[in-house]
Amino acid sequence: MNEQLKFLIELQDLDSSIMSMVENIDVIPRKLDQFKSPLQEANEKFQKAKIKLDALNKKKKVKDMQLDEIQDKIAKLKSKSSGIKTNKEYEAHLKEIQGFEKNISMIEDDILIIMEEIETYEKDLKEEQVKVRKAEDAFNQQEKVLGEEQKKLQAELETEKAKRKDFVLRIDKGIYTQYINLLKRFGDKAVVETRNEICLGCNTNIPPQLFNDIKKNDNLYSCFFCKRFLYFKESPSSDNHDREAHPSS
Ligand SMILES: [Zn+2]
Repeated sequence: MNEQLKFLIELQDLDSSIMSMVENIDVIPRKLDQFKSPLQEANEKFQKAKIKLDALNKKKKVKDMQLDEIQDKIAKLKSKSSGIKTNKEYEAHLKEIQGFEKNISMIEDDILIIMEEIETYEKDLKEEQVKVRKAEDAFNQQEKVLGEEQKKLQAELETEKAKRKDFVLRIDKGIYTQYINLLKRFGDKAVVETRNEICLGCNTNIPPQLFNDIKKNDNLYSCFFCKRFLYFKESPSSDNHDREAHPSS
């Protein structure tokens, strides 16, 4: 086989492997993202439950304060009882106290309802906290696994890149430039196989005489359509030898 052709085939293999490594590294953040959304969701639910609970606690505090104020008022009123002289005054005084006591019982009822709600939301909050921890664990675990995978792939990539740097020196500059331009243009392959008189890069037919020349792999040939470098790979079932042994007359 032509030496430069052999090098080009090897370089293509190397570059294909490098490209697939880069792709595998690039998808890692997206793989981690899949574990990020359940964590965010759990966090949001936890925060909502927390906000609700905080609001309920504030509401209870206000009611407690109202209760204290009224109880103070009642105590003050009661302390004035001894100074009352007439029955009429005393009745009005009692009525006032009773009014405040009625308020107290209403506020106490409110506080009971709030406390029940607080209990429910505290339970919710605990459940949400467990969910957050589970989602965090899953995320951290995945982050660790993917981080290791990324490290490994990165190291492999660096090795391949170093190998490529040395390898490229063996290829003629002009041929290498052609190769790089083709690689940039197509994004995948600059060197492709030919099979059954077809370029496997662009699926264009190759004239029989050119195909016969390519089969020998002793020279650099390009597809007349896509310009990729062409080579022929012997397959075990190929009838190539028979045809070569008996050229058409
Ligand atoms: Zn082609």
